[in-house]
Amino acid sequence: MKLIKTTGRNAKDAYALLATLERRGAVKTAEVEPTVRKIMQEVQKKGDKALLKFAEKFDSLQGHLRVTAGEMLDAWNATPEPLQQAMQIAAENIRSFAEQQKPDEWTTENTPGVTVGQIIRPLESVGCYVPGGRYPLPSTLLMTTIPAKVAGVERIVVCSPKPARETLAAAHLAGVTEMYRTGGAQAIAAMAYGTETIARVAKIVGPGNLYVTAAKIIASTECGIDMPAGPTEIVVTSQVGDAAGIAADLVAQAEHDPETLAVLVTADSQLAKQVVNEVKEQAKNNKLAQVSIKARGTIFLCGSVEEARFITNRLAPEHLTVDSVEDLAWVKNAGSVFIGNYSPQSMGDYISGPNHVLPTGRVGRMRGGLSIYDFLKVITVQNYTAAGLAKLGPHAIALAEAEGLTAHAQSVRVRMKAGKR
Ligand code: NAD
Repeated sequence: MKLIKTTGRNAKDAYALLATLERRGAVKTAEVEPTVRKIMQEVQKKGDKALLKFAEKFDSLQGHLRVTAGEMLDAWNATPEPLQQAMQIAAENIRSFAEQQKPDEWTTENTPGVTVGQIIRPLESVGCYVPGGRYPLPSTLLMTTIPAKVAGVERIVVCSPKPARETLAAAHLAGVTEMYRTGGAQAIAAMAYGTETIARVAKIVGPGNLYVTAAKIIASTECGIDMPAGPTEIVVTSQVGDAAGIAADLVAQAEHDPETLAVLVTADSQLAKQVVNEVKEQAKNNKLAQVSIKARGTIFLCGSVEEARFITNRLAPEHLTVDSVEDLAWVKNAGSVFIGNYSPQSMGDYISGPNHVLPTGRVGRMRGGLSIYDFLKVITVQNYTAAGLAKLGPHAIALAEAEGLTAHAQSVRVRMKAGKR
């Protein structure tokens, strides 16, 4: 880990590094964008044929795209019982968390005779991207499809390159009925534009590497997307934490991807030094974690606790660990927050119930993680009586006339006149 002081003569360098880290998401996806555009254009032109070609090229796969229900069932039956049980507990926690999040429909009379409110409807179709390049992510299958189910989405499509047995077993458990072996930018293009086999969807959700993230951003002109959920990020902001536990979390997220961002922000120089040593020790046998820690692993040693909080909010990390519940008061930007020494971030990756599909690249400034809201539409409703229209109508006419929209004003007058009869 690179230890950098934010005070004294190092201040300029520390804040220059912070500025670079703030640009992390946009810069990286721009690098792969030309490749991604080419792939997506080929899928638009050649459909399934392009999907099969890319499956062979990137994932050494040949043959059929569609995963059958029998394959999912076989995978479930071949899954050892402890893993089946773990998946069932995770699935139940994700389901109950999504249930708890469900927004309400409501109406209220805001003026006598004027009732306004909202109704909630699920999206008709969604595409869930489940990464499968470097390692299988059955947990992501559960995290994306279960909230969609709880929301009531009718058609749930799953795309994953080389889905491993564990991912197929999770698909069986989640009740997936439409799943394809395709990954990367080509899978995103297939779900956004449609092919002979894969009908287009209204929205694409799910994490992925830089190719997937760049493709989702491009596809967002064609369909909805949840967010750029790219290479993992961890920030631990601690003054009193346990160095071994902090280092373990940093190394754990760092093994996700060579592009992982792993950061400790502290005002305690002792803790900073201990974490440097612990990370070195704990990453000793983990090549992947070593790569990302070497490239981007950073400890900001701050002049004060307030500065540590300020830097943390500027980083807007995907995963944030803090010392205590009181810390929630200053957290402005983060995907998901973990509190204290006994809440390792990996619990959130798998089993707690809150989603592990989380915003990266500072999108934590705009939104939190994937949730039931991503699969629902809030549709507003308004209902006037003649008396209600008589009361508010003149004000709408005044506003319409100020905008020069005479037909708008007239449409209100016509109904007001009818209401007087
Ligand atoms: P992936 O499925 O995202 O990507 C694999 C695909 O990338 C391949 O199928 C291929 O199509 C494409 N690809 C690879 N090299 C390419 C190249 N040179 N040119 C064009 N396309 C290429 O799987 P992965 O690579 O293992 O990445 C998973 C990612 O998901 C990791 O970065 C991980 O951090 C991230 N993740 C993020 C979250 C989150 O919520 N932010 C959650 C889980 C995982």
